[in-house]
Amino acid sequence: MPTKTVATINSTGRQAASFIRAASAVGWHVKAQIRSNEGLVAEELADLPNVEFIEGDLTGPDKKRLLKELFTNVKIAFINTTHWGDEVAIGKACADAAKKAGVAHFIYSSMPDHSTFGRGWRALPMWSAKFAIENYVRQLGIPATFVYTGIYNNNFSSLPYPLFQMELQEDGGFVWQAPFHPDDPLPWLDAEHDVGPALLQIFQMGPNHWKGQRVTLAFEKLTPIQCCARFARGVGRPVNYVHGPIKIQLPIPSGYQEQLDILAETLGAKRAPYFPELEYPREGRSIWEGYRGIEEYAREVFPIEEAANGLRWMDEPGASTPSEVVDDTNGSRPMTPSGIPTPVRFSGAYTPRSHPEGLDRDFFVGST
Ligand code: NAD
Repeated sequence: MPTKTVATINSTGRQAASFIRAASAVGWHVKAQIRSNEGLVAEELADLPNVEFIEGDLTGPDKKRLLKELFTNVKIAFINTTHWGDEVAIGKACADAAKKAGVAHFIYSSMPDHSTFGRGWRALPMWSAKFAIENYVRQLGIPATFVYTGIYNNNFSSLPYPLFQMELQEDGGFVWQAPFHPDDPLPWLDAEHDVGPALLQIFQMGPNHWKGQRVTLAFEKLTPIQCCARFARGVGRPVNYVHGPIKIQLPIPSGYQEQLDILAETLGAKRAPYFPELEYPREGRSIWEGYRGIEEYAREVFPIEEAANGLRWMDEPGASTPSEVVDDTNGSRPMTPSGIPTPVRFSGAYTPRSHPEGLDRDFFVGST
């Protein structure tokens, strides 16, 4: 008999799927809302013990009924909204349904609203929607915790997606170009690897410990230069950072263009901290110490995801590893041997193409 029943939405997304894997592994019953049971992630989750799908689209007229069904007999919930549909309306509806069901611990995946700090920073629209939902949840008075998730390691791709493209060079190395100042620290997270175990721990400790708190889920604090140095060690090829504008090489929705423009202004030109007034990575590491850092990601996962996206650079001899990579680890993480060819497997890699919508012409996965 499962000991706990937990509800999730957008369950094939990286955050919720990570949590579902962890919750199922410890024997919890998961009620998981999904839009469709097609696609690699849905197929994998369907095979996990104690996972029950609540199938239907929260962006449509069915929202109320779906949420009522989702929250029936549920006392804990992890809610991560996305920009699909009216995000604030969906987030509020989840909170209302949770309150009605008497949920005892509600974890919401929030993000900051930079305009609230009185520093002349503009709000990033895709983040401030989440902050508005956080405020609503607080007003409702449900026992809630707000996790702030860092930049996913697997935003990086050599495909020409904006902001986190690791652009393959003729010499076999990579270049990452972004508007972040080269010396400004950024929060990093391996969402698929680390969201699940960290949330499990927060739920285990319970609302008395975490009620009302903001918890930053970011396990490394690295400047772009430090990030590239670690990425280089992991992937075994030179990786250089270029401080420059966001390259837009694909058609993107106008809402995402606005998000990127304001990100470049607020976090780039004005150098606002990514998470103002939030501490990381100490708290995250104290909750979950088995995290996957960017170096391990670059060594073990990046080539597999790239291969799953149809790229073949990993089969070619790479440029030699940079000879002068700065050791910025302070002894906190073991150094790994670089330049060792990574064996490429084609299963177990989830990329935007793993979603049923992934091959549609207008499919787009926002990266922040
Ligand atoms: P994801 O990006 O891994 O997956 C996207 C989900 O959206 C999938 O479940 C997909 O099936 C679903 N989807 C696709 N098309 C859809 C449609 N038309 N209607 C409804 N759903 C659709 O998901 P995730 O990373 O767990 O969550 C995304 C949220 O996380 C976003 O709001 C993003 O801003 C936020 N976030 C991302 C980062 C990052 O670095 N990438 C960091 C912090 C927060």
